[in-house]
Amino acid sequence: MSTSPTANWSYPTAIRFGAGRIKELAQACRSAGIGRPLFVTDAGVAALPMTAAAMEVCRADGLDCGLFADVRPNPVAADIEAGLKVYRDGGHDGVVAFGGGSDLDAGKVIAFMSGQTRPMWDFEDIGDWWTRADPDGIAPIVAVPTTAGTGSEVGRAGVVINEETHTKKIIFHPKMLPAVVICDPELTVGLPPKITAGTGMDAFAHCLEAYCAPTYHPMSEGIAVEGMRLVKEYLPRACRDGTDIEARAHMMSAAAMGAVAFQKGLGGIHAISHPIGALYDTHHGMTNAVVMPAVLRFNAAVIETKISRLAGWLGLAPATFDGFLQFVVDLRHKVGVPGGLRELGVDDVRFDEMAEMAAVDPTAGGNPIPITPQVARQLLDAAY
Ligand code: NAD
Repeated sequence: MSTSPTANWSYPTAIRFGAGRIKELAQACRSAGIGRPLFVTDAGVAALPMTAAAMEVCRADGLDCGLFADVRPNPVAADIEAGLKVYRDGGHDGVVAFGGGSDLDAGKVIAFMSGQTRPMWDFEDIGDWWTRADPDGIAPIVAVPTTAGTGSEVGRAGVVINEETHTKKIIFHPKMLPAVVICDPELTVGLPPKITAGTGMDAFAHCLEAYCAPTYHPMSEGIAVEGMRLVKEYLPRACRDGTDIEARAHMMSAAAMGAVAFQKGLGGIHAISHPIGALYDTHHGMTNAVVMPAVLRFNAAVIETKISRLAGWLGLAPATFDGFLQFVVDLRHKVGVPGGLRELGVDDVRFDEMAEMAAVDPTAGGNPIPITPQVARQLLDAAY
């Protein structure tokens, strides 16, 4: 029988990690100073018995809970507006962001916006725009991930689509980091294999791009390489048997590790993936997985030595760039990632537009080789 670890961590925030720990949700809310939480999630997650059970944990402890369950996958600004209205009308004093990355991001941004007077786009992650926010107007957040991929539970940002420009924007503030996180791998056992694969590959993409970003940050690199090892060992197991709680637990760690690591930077995988997700509403992690080999090949010359070192840590033979690339291709195949963008349901008619968007995506700057529109077009063609 497999077992899964239990732990309390205070890095990068308070994390209650372990199977069954969702029963501590009311305590977690109280320790964050929340007495009237608004649960923010999507309709799919809201319909799962575990969501009602989590709300019941809070109610049984005397917390007056509300529910906003209209977050779309790849949330848009209108979702935030709608959630804010429910938050204010209900007199809530904090958010339980409950679900996948879409729900966590939306919940975090709703809590952030709850006491601001300026419009949301004033807080896009550009320069020091975050200093425009009133930190006292940010409501406390408890985050409860039910997928293992984005790591948004330990991040200080939320991704929201601007419907007018059809672009994914990052809303950032240091105080958007949830005060308490409950990482309970039991909440992910019902994830279908396809979402398990897409989210797991997202964690891998975060670690990989953080590791390759050319800035000096050895701490992040250490976290990234171990995160990739966990994905290598446990993602195929989690996809094969969703009830493998040990695999689910390690994937939950890998997800959080990816998000901690990518404070160092991301790169071409995300720069290409964001416009595709914004225009075609594809799953973020699955899109990352589809474009990953093309970006790796493009960066090969400058990341070869680093990737060989990583391949050694992962126990690959040969421990070379080519050995690593082959491992990525095999892993994708094993967990059912589509072979190219066409298979993902993306056509090539808007490639020029997407290439322009990719070159100015905030993550592009982390790629070890500059991403111009020409380069992005080349990458899109290669990933097609
Ligand atoms: P998601 O939140 O969009 O969820 C995908 C689907 O999984 C939904 O239909 C949901 O209902 C379902 N689901 C969630 N948990 C489930 C469970 N336990 N059982 C069954 N079904 C379940 O997917 P995601 O990959 O977790 O998040 C993607 C979003 O996160 C994108 O919007 C992306 O831009 C964002 N993101 C944010 C960050 C960040 O740092 N903030 C990082 C990466 C991605």
